[in-house]
Amino acid sequence: MPEQTESESRKLLSRLQAALAEAGEGQERLDRITHLIADSMGTEVCSIYLLRDADTLELCATEGLAPESVHVTRMRMGEGLVGRVASRARAINTANAPAEPGFRYMPETGEERFSSFLGVPIQRLGERLGVLVVQSKDEREYSGDEVYALEVVAMVIAEMTELGAFLGEGAALSPRHQAQVMFRGTCGQEGAAEGRVYLHEPRVVITKPIAEDPDAELTRLREAVDELRVSVDQMLSNASTGDKEQVQVLEAYRMFANSRGWMRRMEEDIARGLSAEAAVEKEQSTARARMETVPDAYLRERLHDLDDLSNRLLRLLTGQGTETGAQMPEAPVLVARNIGPAELLDYGRSLKAVVLEEGSVGSHAAIVARALAIPLIINAKRITTEALNGDPILVDGDQGIVHLRPEDTVATAFRDKMAMMAAAQERYASIRDKAAETLCGTVVSLHMNAGLMADLPSLPSSGAEGVGLFRTELQFLTRNTVPKRGELAALYARVMDAASGKRVVFRTLDIGSDKVLPYMKPTDEPNPALGWRAIRVGLDKPGVMRMQLQALIRAANGRPLTVMFPFIAQFDEFTRARDHLLREIDREAALGHPLPSELEIGAMLETPSLAFAPRHFFELADFISIGGNDLKQFFFAADRENERVRRRYDSLNVSFLTFLEQIVHRCDDTDTPLSFCGEDAGRPIEAMCFAAMGLRALSMRPASIGPVKSLLRRVDLREVRSVVNEARATGAQSVRPAVMEWFRQQG
Ligand code: PEP
Ligand code: MG
Repeated sequence: MPEQTESESRKLLSRLQAALAEAGEGQERLDRITHLIADSMGTEVCSIYLLRDADTLELCATEGLAPESVHVTRMRMGEGLVGRVASRARAINTANAPAEPGFRYMPETGEERFSSFLGVPIQRLGERLGVLVVQSKDEREYSGDEVYALEVVAMVIAEMTELGAFLGEGAALSPRHQAQVMFRGTCGQEGAAEGRVYLHEPRVVITKPIAEDPDAELTRLREAVDELRVSVDQMLSNASTGDKEQVQVLEAYRMFANSRGWMRRMEEDIARGLSAEAAVEKEQSTARARMETVPDAYLRERLHDLDDLSNRLLRLLTGQGTETGAQMPEAPVLVARNIGPAELLDYGRSLKAVVLEEGSVGSHAAIVARALAIPLIINAKRITTEALNGDPILVDGDQGIVHLRPEDTVATAFRDKMAMMAAAQERYASIRDKAAETLCGTVVSLHMNAGLMADLPSLPSSGAEGVGLFRTELQFLTRNTVPKRGELAALYARVMDAASGKRVVFRTLDIGSDKVLPYMKPTDEPNPALGWRAIRVGLDKPGVMRMQLQALIRAANGRPLTVMFPFIAQFDEFTRARDHLLREIDREAALGHPLPSELEIGAMLETPSLAFAPRHFFELADFISIGGNDLKQFFFAADRENERVRRRYDSLNVSFLTFLEQIVHRCDDTDTPLSFCGEDAGRPIEAMCFAAMGLRALSMRPASIGPVKSLLRRVDLREVRSVVNEARATGAQSVRPAVMEWFRQQG
């Protein structure tokens, strides 16, 4: 880089800083900036276009174009050269703009006189804010250094915008942090909430983008990078060598931390006048913009690593920790890129909702959110860059929609919906102690699913008859080592105490597939959902399962005990698991410990194969519970974790209902109690159709009990059954349309 340009760009930056330090209205400041850039770079035109909404750029200030076109000229993302710079988040540099593909002539600006064009995106951490353009009459291509200098200036402008330095009252500018934004994500847990943003890891705020003394900044950068390298090395030496994945991630970190290219680019930015932290952020912005366009998942992950590393570096340089001292607002809605299950448990039920930029439906965080019954939205792209602590936020977990800084009309409509839901909850409370008895006199027993001690208060308040499924994974998923028998026994005992004699069905550890324990060696399986999971792990490595069974027997301490084994695919898996339990009973007896007063041993029917097991199986099982989430994924061969297919098949599909009916018949034949405990049990229409097919026990989220009971009490199952039968006879694929039509007729 020629010494000349370097000091020119530094000069430009310090002039810029001086201009920005002066008082003035927002517009005045923008005008001053465009004048200054044009003057410094020797171009006839300098213009700033800002995004007024996600899709519209507006000319907000110009030196050299017609002044009347300011706040008049607009273009869409991707439209014209300016729009293309914004949409591709890449500079366009051309000596002959009118000859460039996509050029759009805007007569009101008088720009036909200008031939050369250089536009660079104004962005902050990959978030598009606008475009900075210089134009000249002469046909010249701008040098690499000029492009670079303009990019650095754009970054400073982005930083100023971000800080509200000239946003101020300037409603004419894009008031980014006042405007409503909507995010469409994926539903991780249903429910609606209104609250205020609480950032899990607030982003670093850069207050000093320009520096006077590049040498001092270089020293700061180098010291921080050294510190970063030491901390990464430290993490590597602390990482257990058994954890291949963690070691791999850390090694990638180390590689980036030692990358010459990364370091060199940041040093160049500093030489041009940026502060050390602004240089880090500039590189981070570039990496983020690239991240969006990289199709390869592995590379994207690596860019993520670089992003994480940049965040660490920024925290080192600015001294801003993850704890900023921001007060947790009332009604907090946690916003994060991602979060671990233990961290989420720490926040607990104080949260109104959780919105994640990443995550998956089956992630541990999603499991915890579900257990805590906190509405959760995942894949809300870019929310962490938009949201600020304290921003008003509405979360519609049912639709997977988030409104950030909602306008009044949106907030009012949302509140109406919440009020309707609350009124419904009141109605449900009034039938809490009544049976789910249909008009034809059939009683369906409703139970709740649980997974935490904290769920148990819902048992009396929901009106559930008992806990139809207690998932025992969470205590294993949220810590770094296998929990001790004593701890588990104490927890299970407290659960039974809290249930005050109501039946609790404890499901033994269901891990593998999506639920991987942090201390379990990850096994590379080509298809984990069909892999080494649940009872397969329990039978192959029975140590943990036996310990858990002992804990359950001790927790019962002479009370009735109900144990259920997950994912039984064939008869012998059940007999072997059952034998383990009976052996543990014998052992406990030999030790002189009290034995359960009654013992029920059941199986989860989660694979179609078990529906065709020998009659002996049905006779031996004390009860069977259909794990509909897994059963459905295997019945339709559609991965429950895969967004592309997981909603593809309706649970009211005729084949699936017919299959459920066959399971009911088989259980009736042997008088084996049958229940259904997948998510569908909590959906009123599904629950009603399952009851019509003969299911008499359903287990669901506590919040679903009211709606399901309310519907069941209003219908005659014989009528539902005939609607289902008629739809079946007509060859319908799903009975849903016929059922909905019947509802309409009923008014
Ligand atoms: C199921 O598969 O339906 C079930 C209840 O178990 P889980 O969702 O925990 O796999
Ligand atoms: Mg399951």
